[in-house]
Amino acid sequence: MQRYSAPLNNQQFDLLVCGGGIYGAWTAYDAALRGLKVIIVDQSDWASGTSSASSKLVHGGLRYLETLDFAVVKKSLIERHKLINAAPYRVWPLRFGVPVKKNSRIGSLRLKIGLLIYDYLAGIYHAKQTHLRFSAKAFSQRFPGLDNSHLSGGYTYLDAQTDDARLVLEVIDGACAEGANCLNYCQVTEIVDNKGLITGAVLNDQISGERYTIKASTIVKATGQWTSESSSEKQWCRLSKGIHLVLPKVLGNEALLLTAQSDGRVFFIIPWYGKTLLGTTDTDYKGDINHVTVEKRDIDYLLREANLALTTQWTEKDIQGQYAGLRVLQHSSKLSPSQITREWEIKSPKSGLFYSIGGKLTSAREDAAQLVDAVCKHLNKQVTCKTDLVPFPWMPDGDFNQWSTQMTKKAQQLNIDAESTLWLLRRHGKRVAEIFLNIEQDPGLAKRISKTVPLIHADLIFCLENEMVFHLEDLLRRRIPLLILYRMTNAELTEFAKICAKKLKWDQLTFDKEIETCVQKWLLN
Ligand SMILES: Cc1cc2nc3c(=O)[nH]c(=O)nc-3n(C[C@H](O)[C@H](O)[C@H](O)COP(=O)(O)OP(=O)(O)OC[C@H]3O[C@@H](n4cnc5c(N)ncnc54)[C@H](O)[C@@H]3O)c2cc1C
Repeated sequence: MQRYSAPLNNQQFDLLVCGGGIYGAWTAYDAALRGLKVIIVDQSDWASGTSSASSKLVHGGLRYLETLDFAVVKKSLIERHKLINAAPYRVWPLRFGVPVKKNSRIGSLRLKIGLLIYDYLAGIYHAKQTHLRFSAKAFSQRFPGLDNSHLSGGYTYLDAQTDDARLVLEVIDGACAEGANCLNYCQVTEIVDNKGLITGAVLNDQISGERYTIKASTIVKATGQWTSESSSEKQWCRLSKGIHLVLPKVLGNEALLLTAQSDGRVFFIIPWYGKTLLGTTDTDYKGDINHVTVEKRDIDYLLREANLALTTQWTEKDIQGQYAGLRVLQHSSKLSPSQITREWEIKSPKSGLFYSIGGKLTSAREDAAQLVDAVCKHLNKQVTCKTDLVPFPWMPDGDFNQWSTQMTKKAQQLNIDAESTLWLLRRHGKRVAEIFLNIEQDPGLAKRISKTVPLIHADLIFCLENEMVFHLEDLLRRRIPLLILYRMTNAELTEFAKICAKKLKWDQLTFDKEIETCVQKWLLN
């Protein structure tokens, strides 16, 4: 995938998409597939906002049944089904366990009813996919790390998982391939209108250093938390912060949905890249939207609740990585952000200008289709959405299971360990064939980058060379999430920076600055 590099001044577009998170990405791809002339820009990197800070679940959201958000749950479950079928390497099923304890806030019967509704809304009736009930003994055997005191039984149910930043990147790549001009590190600094009718925008391209004025008949602003920057748009949003901690592996291939003892909130313990993702929090946020950080009280809350639910005695020293993100929720006077609907909204304050407000990673494709419908209506074009009809950008041709078996065999021949192979296929889909060619040239690339993380050197090099990387953080946090998967040392970071410097031709000043940014933002002491 190549960043668009020709001058943009005075070019005319049907649609400018402002923001390259999951909503912007699907909007640009959808519009490009419908034949519109599209440009998408992000002021920072693709998925650098909330779309790389989620729980990485493609799910209906069992807990939203408690707030009676049936429409949101149903829409998301339909999307979950579509995404698993369209891109099984990108979105894969993940079974969750829910323990029932004698003092559980949600008792066995209530949970059973919830799970019946969840399966019903998902349209699944097959025993391999529906929820299952277990005795206390069977449940603790299935989840050996769980503290089983007062356990009276448990359930499991099916949901799905992804790598959020790579999902965004793949959709951006799809948009590029369909002819959209895609530019990360390019900010929309001004929207131009003529008596309330959108006519274009001013862009500040940080890579070329140029300032462009472009013509655009419509603009979609999918700017997540940055929508609240302007005083007029602030009233549409309530921001809530959620953090995640990455901890050592504690689970097998299944996750846990648990209830916090201190406040009755739901939280997750999820296997991810051979580690454990623990999250999340849900607290009102009034701070700086450009510096959302993990705070000590967030860490204390999650570690305390995890240690109560598991047999672990995790302390801060066990944390391998951490990240924070902001949810954009609809404005509401409800006391707790957890009670506010996750419903997505479209707003159009000016003719030809559309805002995406809120939503979920899971349902973004469907919501983006509505945005592009509105854009097409404004442009007087009658073309329908194709994103659920065409193959996913990196979906292998032919039978997926056969492809998967063949690639796994090939990886074995190249001496890639089994767990790294699994993640390599998930991360790259059909493009894994190119990575295998590189390993054939240089067999040393098949080795793991760090022994506790199932990611190999060939993957890192491939991302650097092919995935629109400009900064060290793009590579190590989003293309390949090393900065949150293990406690990287300064020396290791410097080695990665040297690899980047060679490819991206950094001078000493840039080299030092790139390292400093990562140290400040990501390295744990
Ligand atoms: C803690 C947490 C956990 C979550 N877990 C899940 C989950 O498991 N499953 C799920 O389905 N959903 C989940 N969500 C929700 C989901 O992550 C969000 O709905 C989604 O990522 C929002 O995407 P977005 O594109 O609207 O915003 P963002 O991803 O924030 O993208 C907005 C982009 O706009 C860019 N931008 C801003 N201003 C400008 C400008 N002027 N010019 C150019 N670019 C600009 C920013 O740089 C940014 O990249 C979670 C959210 C949080 C906070």
